[in-house]
Amino acid sequence: MHDIVDLRSDTLTLPTPAMREAMARAEVGDDVWEEDPTVQRLEDLAARLTGKEAALFVSSGTQGNLVSVLAQTRHGQEIVLDRDSHIFNYEGASAAVFGGVQTLPVATERGFLTAGQVRASMRPSNIHIPATGLVCLENTHNRHGGTCCTPEEIADVAAAARAHGIPVHLDGARIFNASVALGRPVADFARPVDSITFCLSKGLAAPVGSLVCGSRDFVARSRRVRKMLGGGMRQVGVLAAAGLVALESMVDRLAEDHANARALAAGLARMPRVRLDPGKVQTNIVIFQVDREGGSTELAAGCLARKVKIHQIGPGAIRCVTHKDVDREDIDRALDAFREITKPW
Ligand SMILES: *Cc1c(COP(=O)(O)O)cnc(C)c1O
Repeated sequence: MHDIVDLRSDTLTLPTPAMREAMARAEVGDDVWEEDPTVQRLEDLAARLTGKEAALFVSSGTQGNLVSVLAQTRHGQEIVLDRDSHIFNYEGASAAVFGGVQTLPVATERGFLTAGQVRASMRPSNIHIPATGLVCLENTHNRHGGTCCTPEEIADVAAAARAHGIPVHLDGARIFNASVALGRPVADFARPVDSITFCLSKGLAAPVGSLVCGSRDFVARSRRVRKMLGGGMRQVGVLAAAGLVALESMVDRLAEDHANARALAAGLARMPRVRLDPGKVQTNIVIFQVDREGGSTELAAGCLARKVKIHQIGPGAIRCVTHKDVDREDIDRALDAFREITKPW
């Protein structure tokens, strides 16, 4: 039980005592010179877990996606992605700003491009038309409520892109949630794609950091791009040390977050004016609609007064994310708050 039940995001997780201890003891060196042994251990582990040749530690998921786009495209190209993807909505148009790359957003049903949509998005060779440079996927899907696609679905989409000679990037910020939810190793999701990024700083609870994984050649290019972006960090093993603890000890417990999200969704589904399909809650994100004028604002304010924090992600839409600093009692407290506020509705 915590004083404040903070369901706004899994990025709010605080580092564990084991992480702080590992950070204090970390053996470090200058990582721009590739001499930080702790960063190297983290990158080796990330490469092994994703089944890729190499990995690169970056400051954030946003930087990881940008590095992946810049390392695999040229100015004037186009990247194909889902309309609700994080890259399209929440990264400040970075691919356009820093990469000179335009986006082709495609509306999808569950957040996942189909092979048919990828084929239909490929540009013909013509001097008028931008050349397709990269296809980007996202798993689990943030704006679609933490939904997962399977390794087979990814393979299907990737094959469609590869048939046109186009590489595929997977924004796997929460790929460990997908892995735990579907009971499949992360490498299965990563195998069909050319590059994958994942975050240490969300459900895995490390304070900072993401990894970019792919072939040795791709990671070498990414290292150069990261340096250009000002992302070359020196004795950064102090941060990588927490990331190692995250990968070694924080993955299996994600199942608890998923169970808490299901409990939250089941309770919410019974409340008046709340619209959600609890069957769609596969991981740690619960998105629901409030069918009442001003209802979502009222709910967020009412919750805050009861020391429960939730996040309004659009008109009438609320997002709750479960994580290691929210336990079952906290979920019950949140549900009590929701019940009190929605009762007169
Ligand atoms: C959080 C998130 C990111 C970016 O991560 P930051 O570390 O916050 O920059 C990228 N993609 C998805 C799907 C995310 O949820």
